[in-house]
Amino acid sequence: MAPSDPLAWIDTELEALARANLRRYLTVRQGPQSGAHISLDGRELINFGSNDYLGLANRCLLPGIQRALEHGGWGSGASPLITGRGRLHAELELGLAKFEKTEAALLFPSGFVANLATVAALVGPQDVIFSDQNNHASIIDGCRLSRAHVVIFNHADTDHLRQLLSQATSCRRRLIVTDSLFSMDGDFAPLESLAQLAEEHDAMLMVDEAHATGVFGQNGRGVCESLGVEDGVHLRVGTLSKGLGSIGGFVAARRPVIDWLANQARGYFFSTAPPETVAAAGLMALEIVTNEPQRRCQLLTQAAVLRDRLIQNGWQTGPSASQIVPVYLGDADSTMAMTQRLRKAGLFVPGIRPPSVREGRCLLRISLTFDHRDEMIGRLVEELGTNRAGCRGESSEQN
Ligand SMILES: *Cc1c(COP(=O)(O)O)cnc(C)c1O
Repeated sequence: MAPSDPLAWIDTELEALARANLRRYLTVRQGPQSGAHISLDGRELINFGSNDYLGLANRCLLPGIQRALEHGGWGSGASPLITGRGRLHAELELGLAKFEKTEAALLFPSGFVANLATVAALVGPQDVIFSDQNNHASIIDGCRLSRAHVVIFNHADTDHLRQLLSQATSCRRRLIVTDSLFSMDGDFAPLESLAQLAEEHDAMLMVDEAHATGVFGQNGRGVCESLGVEDGVHLRVGTLSKGLGSIGGFVAARRPVIDWLANQARGYFFSTAPPETVAAAGLMALEIVTNEPQRRCQLLTQAAVLRDRLIQNGWQTGPSASQIVPVYLGDADSTMAMTQRLRKAGLFVPGIRPPSVREGRCLLRISLTFDHRDEMIGRLVEELGTNRAGCRGESSEQN
């Protein structure tokens, strides 16, 4: 008998994914990232699939990066707790705390790791986490990693959460965790009510501002700032890799919280510190976000215009109130067909399928950036055409 291949199941599973139109293929972007253009397969497309919301990722941060490179080398050589944390890391953490108006901040290799490590450092098997149904994968995985009891509340449903909180009486600690701006539907968490519930039930409240940092709030601190709830939120997670155009995640909180994370967040100290040059990029990004509020103002104005025009044409943009504008198409087949059609017309708009969204909730995820011009948005609206069915998930018909 021929020996069996213990990896043969992978081929079978990949084929099943492909048949269900759920298989992902690696892509290669040619040329530099730009908020508004992308070169794929030798073709220049208008890019509606970047999280570089403020247009900082391409060239804006290079002066800061070059200055840092002149003074230092590249790799940090060790975990931040051993010898990896340099002057620029410390400066960025101070800068983040100042920007976020918190006592302190801690830099992580990515936003994903920040969530994973922070949730697991805050709670354990004797504790309960209350997690919004639509939270980001990194929060979900952090919840699992913590081994705490995880209770999922219906998306943005504070009545449901209140009920669940009052049922959880015999635990040690409670943690409520939510995205502030949800990455697929572009809607906000009900942060005022969540802060109130956290206070009433003596729960910690952790809010992930990944898509909102630099974009929302008078000073760009995010949705907690724009809704005026910063004082009621115990930990704010952010990323340097979306609006701030670079790479890295962070947590901003009171000093003891940050000290605890530096001691207990395994993704922080069991991983090598990012190059100091990355910290320099973060510092430069904070400077631009602070000095150029017009970037976020213009972006949000454009987003409101786009949503209005799509709705006028019969499309459902759901609860979106941000630079993330979903167009709901329902099933994976019509979503991927629309993606292909737009791509032929020179527009890159990612189609989102399970597991990123629930079954039957497939959507085109339009993400706008500061670099999109009126005429680009006009072309997108034109190519999408009119949705004659005019109702969610019923049709991908268009003119
Ligand atoms: C992208 C994202 C993250 C992860 O951030 P990275 O810096 O890209 O690792 C975390 N939370 C949310 C809500 C995100 O959208």
